[in-house]
Amino acid sequence: MSTQTPPNVQVPDAVGLAEAVRVLASGGTVAVPTETVYGLAARADRAEAVAGIYRAKGRPDFNPLIVHVPDLAAAEALAEFDQRAHKLADAFWPGPLTMVLPRRATAPLAAAVSAGLPTVALRVPAHPVMRALLAAAGLPLAAPSANRSGGVSPTRAAHVAASLGARADLILDGGTTQQGLESTIVALRPGGGWQILRPGPVTEAAIAAVLGEEATDARRGIEAPGQLASHYAPGKPVRLQAMAAEADEFLIGFGAVPGAISLSDTGDLAEAAARLYDCLHLAAAAPEQHIAVAPIPEVGIGAAINDRLRRAAA
Ligand code: AMP
Ligand code: MG
Repeated sequence: MSTQTPPNVQVPDAVGLAEAVRVLASGGTVAVPTETVYGLAARADRAEAVAGIYRAKGRPDFNPLIVHVPDLAAAEALAEFDQRAHKLADAFWPGPLTMVLPRRATAPLAAAVSAGLPTVALRVPAHPVMRALLAAAGLPLAAPSANRSGGVSPTRAAHVAASLGARADLILDGGTTQQGLESTIVALRPGGGWQILRPGPVTEAAIAAVLGEEATDARRGIEAPGQLASHYAPGKPVRLQAMAAEADEFLIGFGAVPGAISLSDTGDLAEAAARLYDCLHLAAAAPEQHIAVAPIPEVGIGAAINDRLRRAAA
């Protein structure tokens, strides 16, 4: 628990995975790469294990967790899938889409996983290390981003080590994550209608195309803290839409706006999404007291990048 203890970092080879399974089985926490960001995983069926995630992150307990499963069959054991949920699973799983669905009464999940809600958030991840861990553990794994609550999400094992240290019982170092932004969260309402609770790599337009139906915008208050105004905070003031650096500012550039570093010199939004948190971590560690970020077009995954930037700046 002490931050003085060095973190336990291992590569995800057969030895590392076996150690991870042992830690998870005994109710501990394991930081693991997914295709989005690093997650802090614990077995979702035990209250003490789930409590370990909230404790390590300093996460408010009204904030529910995403449950990761290896495949659709495992997901269907936990939640009720209607035709729309099957369509989305066929189109986007494994991958960076989380579905909020009615939780089955028989689901072997600790109540804290869904913070008392009658729903559960489910995802089948694509990253080979997370998939290997799910297969070897044979358990649904609750896994929020592997950072202290409210901070910038980790895209490298070093980010996890810097934020959580030995608060994670084990960190599996599987390199840099590919997508770099957390999964899209979509809520399918039992009575009909759906909403995006958190924008991400799977766009609203892509979901609407698969469902053949536009999102309904009946907002129901905050269900996902990705919806809270301040999140992903780098610990310094952040100015958006910056065309040039002002005094004592570290500028994160994009496209034609050069910076101390750039999200993408060529203006590639996928590259910008993948590099966003890495750039925010670098900016947080820079000597300048302020951070500025160049304008990002609100197109495709640009919507999710701007969502994270607005919250980092709030
Ligand atoms: P994180 O794990 O930090 O990426 O955050 C997980 C996100 O999923 C949070 O924004 C949660 O509020 C959201 N979430 C998890 N379960 C549910 C649920 N049952 N209903 C709505 N949102 C959920
Ligand atoms: Mg998070």
